[in-house]
This record gives sequence, structure tokens and C-alpha cells, in this order.
Amino acid sequence: MHRTLGIDLGTTNSVTAWIKDGEPEVIAAAPEENGTPSVVGLSGDGALLVGREALNWLERDASRVIATVKRLMGRQFQDPKVQQAIRRMGQGGPQITEAPDGGVLIRLGDHEYTPVQISAIILGRLKRDAEAAVGTAFSRAVITAPAYFGERQIAATREAGGLAGFQVVRVLMEPTSAALAHGLGRGQDADPATVLVYDLGGGTFDVSILTLMPGFVDVLGVNGDNLLGGTDFDGSLADHLLELLDSHGSGDQSLPGDSAKIRKAAEHAKIQLSAASSTEVIVSPLGESGDVLSETVDRKHFESLIAERIETTVDLTRRTVTEASLLPEDIDQVLLVGGSSAIPLVTERLAELFGREKLRTDVDPMTCVSLGAAIQSVLIDTIDCLNCRAACRLDDDTCSGCATPLVGTPTIECPACHVPAPEDTGTCPVCASDLSALVAEHPAPSPSVCGECGEENALEALECDLCGAQLRDSGGLKCPKCTLVNQPGLTWCSFCDAELPVAAPSDVTPRPIGVRTNDGSLVILVEAGTRYPTEQPLRHDFYVSANPGDMLEIALHEGDFQPAERNDLCGVSMYELPEGNTDTKALTIAVHLDKDRSIQLETRLDGASFSRAVFRRNPLPPEFRRRARETNGRFQTFLATWRHELTQAEAAVLAETATALEQVVKGEAPGRSLDTLLEEADELLERQQNVRWATALTYRYPHHVAELMPEEELKAMRSHRSTLKSMREAADFDRGHQIAQEVLGIRRRLGNDLYEVMSALASASHNGVNPALQQRIQTAGDGLTEAARQGDLAGVDAAKSRITDLYRDMLREQAAFQAPERKTVRPEKPPR
Ligand code: ADP
Ligand code: MG
Repeated sequence: MHRTLGIDLGTTNSVTAWIKDGEPEVIAAAPEENGTPSVVGLSGDGALLVGREALNWLERDASRVIATVKRLMGRQFQDPKVQQAIRRMGQGGPQITEAPDGGVLIRLGDHEYTPVQISAIILGRLKRDAEAAVGTAFSRAVITAPAYFGERQIAATREAGGLAGFQVVRVLMEPTSAALAHGLGRGQDADPATVLVYDLGGGTFDVSILTLMPGFVDVLGVNGDNLLGGTDFDGSLADHLLELLDSHGSGDQSLPGDSAKIRKAAEHAKIQLSAASSTEVIVSPLGESGDVLSETVDRKHFESLIAERIETTVDLTRRTVTEASLLPEDIDQVLLVGGSSAIPLVTERLAELFGREKLRTDVDPMTCVSLGAAIQSVLIDTIDCLNCRAACRLDDDTCSGCATPLVGTPTIECPACHVPAPEDTGTCPVCASDLSALVAEHPAPSPSVCGECGEENALEALECDLCGAQLRDSGGLKCPKCTLVNQPGLTWCSFCDAELPVAAPSDVTPRPIGVRTNDGSLVILVEAGTRYPTEQPLRHDFYVSANPGDMLEIALHEGDFQPAERNDLCGVSMYELPEGNTDTKALTIAVHLDKDRSIQLETRLDGASFSRAVFRRNPLPPEFRRRARETNGRFQTFLATWRHELTQAEAAVLAETATALEQVVKGEAPGRSLDTLLEEADELLERQQNVRWATALTYRYPHHVAELMPEEELKAMRSHRSTLKSMREAADFDRGHQIAQEVLGIRRRLGNDLYEVMSALASASHNGVNPALQQRIQTAGDGLTEAARQGDLAGVDAAKSRITDLYRDMLREQAAFQAPERKTVRPEKPPR
């Protein structure tokens, strides 16, 4: 049995939970702590710090600690949200810069990490801690994400989960998850309920209204403030404490770590004040003279400091209700979610708005999102193969259709920069360390422990070997009737046949998804509010007007701005238009959203069969695809031109890179850094071209103009020719490149005139020009040879200048015959 971990990957705090003995249970990372701060840092000596340790390191060196990375997930550096988040992180934090692909890079110490890699480090730690705490391997995960997360943010979340060694079986909306934890949307005969989820966390406020019915969740409205949460309250209280310190203190110079210390004390006091009406704050030593801050803070005063911000959340809540065309009376229940919703002022204000009886505070607001994720993990009845999309059995390790693994890939950690990577990674994607010798730890499958006698039974056993008792924890939910625990994913109790409260909810899209048309505008294919998984693909008709051989680009964007490029890119798929003579073709685009809003795109041109593409991985920014397309174009031309002359070794190396480039052009992310791929491809091609070019020169100069070359250069050319040949056979591109440079050096020394003469004679010798021109070049060439033999210098010069003129004619003629360039076309709207 494969266990699935429920993960609330929070902005400030992450929590894990699982289903134990049929009930959801939070997995405590450490005694007294339900969560792990979503913080990553590097200590002075380069050790990796995650969670509380990293948070503590903030006091020492904030430039090596990254918090609130969730705000950067799946976004471009230029995204105003990212800029805002960076400003919010304030002075002294890590350097955050634009990645070459337009994404975000975070510098910790000597290395730069992507938000996905930082999140993967957090998730990796959560996985290990959870496995150690409960003695069970978690190879799969359900991870929660805010309701407003778009395709790219969800894709980034999945990618981080994958990097951490999980098969991410679902990305679940946080409010839906909270509702599941409150037991909503699970019963078979429950009436629809309208639920407002008020989620005030550490760094964000989200409010959503859901309609829950057995089997699905409708989102009626989502609102929020991405930059408002408990950390602001800590800040306000810390400022207040500082004022007090200034008024009583010695007034001496403060030390770098002081403000972090005071903030920490402020957070502690804030939490105390949720349960007590006043609290003591003591911080020492502070400043150079070791001051002591000792104050009493009462709740009333704290509330006055944060009242305005709480009011903002209440206003947003009210507005969300109004925008959903509802009245507060229409809300059946209000779920309080997020650590900061424990603040009594919050409860008070919401009770005034909705009535106290509607407030649900019975499930711990700090952990309820993770509990819902755990519940979801056992409502899932099949695992989708990431490759062929087949629905597979939960017990399977690999897809029965295509053998793709259905559990996370064991990971290794780079010893230098600590980034996690799949086991078979050769080179670290962050710091290029050699990882080939590292082996991942495969956690041993845990036995089934008998609840009656404590006997450890085999993994798959249903009855205890020793006492015959039913082995209670089969990983699924407890039957409400007979209280035995079932297998995950069942709809009926396997013991008493009672109906199980199984209702994996479906969700609706928060924003529309559209395609970019030829004039750059966006045409919506999937409306906002569409329920997914979609029962059948949503089909739309377009047409394409193009020349045969042109490329058709289908770019899907999420959002509703015009032009299309202002919206987030979900993915791009490229199709080669078939040969044929019609230049206007009918195009059908069909979009299907699966359980976690991954897009399956089907395209049919002129009644031909559908071609499919799936957008699920981190989509590539347009700039990257453009570069990949250009590089790929050069690769293809090169391969087509030299196909018959490449050595086996050369062809193999080129083909490997060409395949990776084609993937990128199709909109798929390659399994390594894109930038490196493009750089390496460019370099490889340049070297190949140089080597090819040099090889040609080593043949042509001696063959066509030997008599015009100094003896030394002629000998060098011939010897380079044989060296290049053996370099090419051994695919020794570095050495080959050096020799090629030397050959090009000789070409320069011999001068341009001789080069042109040689080129013209070489072209004329293999039918590379039209017959008349060929004839004239050959005649001039014969004259040249004759003059050279006779030592007639004036004759040589005259023949040379005749040939260079003919060379120019030849270039003009070749230019006229250039193949027309392939265009990229996009769908056009059908005429009305
Ligand atoms: P997020 O989802 O943003 O990661 P959480 O829901 O985990 O955040 O909430 C973390 C925040 O809740 C922190 O700012 C923490 O100080 C605050 N918090 C936790 N418990 C309490 C409490 N009892 N009273 C007030 N604030 C609390
Ligand atoms: Mg949260």
C-alpha cells in the first residue's frame, strides 16, 4: 500500500497530516509544534537550515534566509505581485533577481535557487519529518494551494512536489480542503451548503465562498489580500515594543539581530493574547549595553494596533458576499481557517456580520487545511499516469500501460547547495556539482502493526498473523457504521457494505482559459467558473490560413486581458502544417481539464485525426520558446544539410540535443535547466559548424588552389585534415574545435581573394551553380592554373579577379534560390 501525505504548503507555515486508523491526524514535526515554518536558510558554514532553525537564523544573517517563497511560485520576475512581495521582504533579505528565463532567482550564499527548488527543499523536509514521525513511507502527496492560484502556480507546486520525491496526486484548493476537514461535502444525502472560508494566515488573507454538494464544490467567489496576515500584526506589536524600549531604554546603539529578536517576542505575545487578556514580554540582551525589554501588553491595546487591518479583512469578506449576489444571511457556515483567525477580535467581528452560531472554530484553524488534504488523499480512487493519463490502480507502482512510475522518484541532495534532485541526476542543476555517485535512500516499506496484539504483520496482510484480528489500518476511511477501516478509494464499506462518505469534490476554474489568435487577441475556450474535471472536451472552431510547411502555434493563456500576451501562459503547442494546396484550413481546438486543472489540448486540422498535447509542467515563457525555436531551426538546417557526412558519433550527439530542443518548442519543459540547454545547443552547433567548415576548407584549398598557396600552409592544411577526421570520429569536439580555429586562422592569412577564388572553383566543380556560370568559372580556373604554372604573375592576378567577380554572381544567384522562410501562424476566428 502506498501512503499519501496531506500537505498544507503555507506561505509562512506548512503542516502535514495523514489518515491513521481511518481518521485524519496531524503529524507533529516536533513536540509542541504542529507546523514547520516555510523558511529555508544557509548557516554561516553552508549547512542547510529548514523551518524553525532557518527562522532562528534570521536574527543572525537575514541575507541567507528566504521566507514567504510561496508568493514567488510560478511567477515571472516582472509580475507586479513578485515586485510587491520583494518590497515586502524588506532590506537585508536575500538578493532576488530575474532568471534568464524571466523567472525568479533567490540567492542564498553562493548559490541561486528557483522558488520551485526552495519549495522542494521545504517539501523534502516535511516528507522526511513525517516519515520519521509515523514510521511510514509517503511516496505520494496531496498538496493544497490557494483558490486564486493559476495554472502556472499550480504547475510550479506540482513540480516542487515531484522534486521532493512525491508523486503529486492532487493539488487541492485550500478552502475546499478546509471544508473537507470540517466534514462538509462528504455526506451522501447532505443538502447543498453555502460556506464562507475566512483564511487569515501568516502572510495572506483569503476569503472564498463555496457551495458544497456531495461530490462537488462550486466556488462562488474568491477574494483576498496577498500581503496581509499575522506577520503584519507581529510588525505592529514589535514597533510598539520598540517605542516603549526607546522611551524607557538607555537609548544606545541597537545591534543587527535586535529587531528580529523583538519580532519573535512580539509573535509569541500575540499568540498568548489570543487566549489571555494580557501578557508579559521580556527580551534581553538588547543593544550594545545588553538592555532588557520588559513590558506588559494587554489585549485591548494589541487590538487597537491591528484593528484597521482586521477591518480590511471584514470589508473584503462583506464585498465577496455582495459580489456573489448573496446576503450574509445566505451563508450557512463560516469556517475560520489560518493561525491568525484565532485572534478574538476576528471572531467578534465575524460574529457581528454573520451571527455567532454560524462560526465554525471546532477544527484547529492552523491545521484544518492539512487535515482536509489527508482526507482528500483517501477519497482518490485511481492514480493518473503522468505520462499516458491512464487511470491506474492505487496499489500499482507503475502504469500498466506505459510503465511510468506511479510513486515519487527517490531523491538525492546535492552536498554543496542542498537542492534535491531525482536519483539519476548527473550534474546538480544549481551548482553543477557531480551527483553521479550519490544514491537515494529508499525507505523500507513499513509493516502493518496489529492494533490488538502489537504484532508486526506483512505489508499487505488484512488479518493479524498472530491473533487473527482485523488489521485495522488499511489506509482508508473508517466506516461510519461498522467502524472498521477500509482501503483507500472505496465507495462501499468492504466489511458491512454500508455506503462510505466518499465524495472527491470537483472544482471550478477561477479564471478563463483562452487561445491566442493570429491578431494577438485572446479567444476564450474555457469560461471562468467551469467545473472540472470536464465531462467532455470543450470544442471550438477556428481556421488557419497558411502555406504548406508553416508552423501552427496554439498558445493557451489563463486570464481575461486583451491582448492575449498580458495573461499567464499555460503552454504552447506547435504543429507542422501538412503539405497540400489549400491555404485555408478548418481547425478544431478541444480543451479538457482534468482533476487538477491540467489541460489536455486536442487539435484537428481539416478533418484529420486529433493531435494531443498535455500542459502540465511548468510552461515556458514565450521568450524561451522563441530562442529554442531559432536554435532548433538552425539545428534542423544543419542536420538536413550534412546528414550524409556526419560521423556516427557526431550524429548521436546532435540528435540528442535536437530532441530536447524539439520538446521545448512543443512547449514541454526539458528535464534540465533551459538556459543551459540553449547555451549548450548553441555552442555545440557553433563548434560543429566550425569543424564542418574547417574540414571543407582542408579539402578545398589543397584541391583547388594548391599552386597559389605557400608550401607551409599547404602542408598544415593537409595535416589538419587528417586530425579533424579522427577528432570527428571520436566526437572530440573540444579538440576538433581547436584545430578548426587553426584552419580558420590559415584561411584568414591566405586572404579573402584566395578564399573567394577557391569557393567559386569548388562550387563549379560539383554542379553547385547553373551550367553557364559553371562553364565560365571553370574556364577562368583553367586560365589561372596555366598562368600560375608559367609564373605569369599578372595573368594570375587577372584570372583571380575574373573568378572573384564570378563568385559574386554565384552568390547572387544562390540568394535568389533561397527557400521561403517558414512562418508561424495562429488560429483565426471563423468569419461570422
Ligand atoms: P499560512 O497559511 O500563511 O502559512 P498559518 O495559517 O499557518 O499561515 O498561520 C500562521 C500565522 O498564524 C502566524 O503569523 C502565527 O503567528 C499566527 N498564529 C498562530 N497561532 C495563533 C494564535 N493562537 N493567535 C494569533 N495568531 C496566531
Ligand atoms: Mg494557510
